[in-house]
Amino acid sequence: MVTYAQFRVNCEAVLARIRHACSLCGRDSSTVRLLPVTKTHSVDAALYAYEFGLRAVGENRVQEALAKRPLAPPDLRWELIGHLQSNKAKQALQIFDVIQSVDSIDLVKRLGRIAQELNVQRDIYIQVNAGNDPAKFGCDLSLAPALVEVALAQPALRVIGLMAVPPLVDGLHAAERTFQELRLCRDALEDQFQIKLPELSMGMSGDLEVAIAAGSTCVRVGSSLYGTRSAQ
Ligand SMILES: *Cc1c(COP(=O)(O)O)cnc(C)c1O
Repeated sequence: MVTYAQFRVNCEAVLARIRHACSLCGRDSSTVRLLPVTKTHSVDAALYAYEFGLRAVGENRVQEALAKRPLAPPDLRWELIGHLQSNKAKQALQIFDVIQSVDSIDLVKRLGRIAQELNVQRDIYIQVNAGNDPAKFGCDLSLAPALVEVALAQPALRVIGLMAVPPLVDGLHAAERTFQELRLCRDALEDQFQIKLPELSMGMSGDLEVAIAAGSTCVRVGSSLYGTRSAQ
């Protein structure tokens, strides 16, 4: 992994990219949050983010976050951005403040029930396979309303938005289409349920500009901050 000095430089560069992308589409850059993705790195990656002043990190595995979180400041928030197996729902609720990867009705119900048992309240995003990519997790676009409906019935969950990961292979155009689909899906859900879903978690190191143009409020950035990852 990079040194802290290099991380600072990288972080400033990513923040400059965010500001530039916002200025091109007339958005206020304070409406886009940078979520550093610390997966596969040691806890130092999370400590770097904290030292820089960021207060949340993204991880894609429950076990990894479980190992790192005790070593980090208690007010650093941990957000799950990777697929959650239902048998890890309880651990996920215990270790993560936010779960961005809620992708099935069964998982919504299970998280809602266990969160109530644990007496915790959690913010969630519904992950939508907005790029119709068979290789990606996320519920089908057509199933998003059903997931939101079930989520709204869970008192211990607060659905605050949608998340998507675009197809890996098809480049920026496919990513752009995926992001626009996610935004349209969000707008339709807001209409249908008469609720606010303010958060759109979309955009990574390679495509954060197009994500911001499409309305992203949270870009999840790993390699541009920490360097390339070894095998996961
Ligand atoms: C790894 C990961 C990222 C970060 O990807 P980079 O290309 O390294 O910025 C973002 N979102 C999810 C869901 C990831 O798994």
